[in-house]
Amino acid sequence: MSTVSASCTGLVLRSTDVGDNDKLLTILTAEYGKLTVSAKGARSLKSKLMSASQQFAYGEYTFTVKGDFKWLRDASVAESFFSVRRDLPRLALACYVASVTEQLSLEGQADVELLRLTLNTLYMLCGDKQALDHIKAVFELSAVAVGGFAPELQECGSCGVVENITYLDTVGGVCLCDGCVRRLFAETQIPVSVLPVTSTQLDAMRYITSPETKNPFSFRLPEDEENALADICEKYLLAQLDCGFKTLSFYHEVKN
Ligand SMILES: [Zn+2]
Repeated sequence: MSTVSASCTGLVLRSTDVGDNDKLLTILTAEYGKLTVSAKGARSLKSKLMSASQQFAYGEYTFTVKGDFKWLRDASVAESFFSVRRDLPRLALACYVASVTEQLSLEGQADVELLRLTLNTLYMLCGDKQALDHIKAVFELSAVAVGGFAPELQECGSCGVVENITYLDTVGGVCLCDGCVRRLFAETQIPVSVLPVTSTQLDAMRYITSPETKNPFSFRLPEDEENALADICEKYLLAQLDCGFKTLSFYHEVKN
C-alpha cells in the first residue's frame, strides 16, 4: 500500500488520549471535511505536535496517509482559542459547539461555511462582547441553517400569510400563524414542539439566517426576549438534528 502525504487547514474538534503518549484527533478541515488523525507521542512535553493536538487548536496540519489511516507528521498553530478556557461555562459551551460541528460535518466533504461559523463562534467566546447564551443561540440557528435545515420564517407554513405569525414548529421547520395553530390544534393540545414566538424573536431569527447578514452575532435584544430566543434556538437544533448532546447537558449544569 502506498504512503502519501497531505496538508490542510483545520480545527481540532476533539482530542482523545490513546495509550500512554498518543492522541486521536478529530479535525474539521477546509479541504477534506472531517478527518480522524492519529498524533503519535503528542502528549509528551517534548513533542512538536503537543500544542497543535489540543482541542480548539486551529492551524496547518500535515499528515501521512496509508489506506484508511492518517498520522500527524507536522503542525503549526495559528490560533489556540485559549481564552475559552478562562471559565467553566465558557469552556463547556465551546465543547458543545465542537460536538454540534462534529455531528454536522462529514468525512471527505469540504464545508468551509461550517468551519467559518465554528471559528467565528470560538472568536466570540474568547471575547466579552455578547453573553454566552446569545452566542449559543446564534451558533445553534446558524449551524442548522448551514446544515440545510433553516426554518421557513417568511410566511405561515400552513396557509402562507405573513401577518400574525405567533408560533414556530421546530419539527416541521416552519412558522405558523395564529389562525392556523387554532385550527390545527382545535381538538388537541398544542404539541411541545410548537413554540410561541414574538415578532422580535422572529426578526432576530430572520436576521441570523439571512444570506445578507455579515455578522449574525451583532444584534441585541431585551433580556426576556434573549432568554426565550436561546430556548427556541436550542429546541430547534435538537428537533432538527434529532439527537441529544452530553456537552449541552453539562453546559446547563455549570452555567449558573
Ligand atoms: Zn396560517
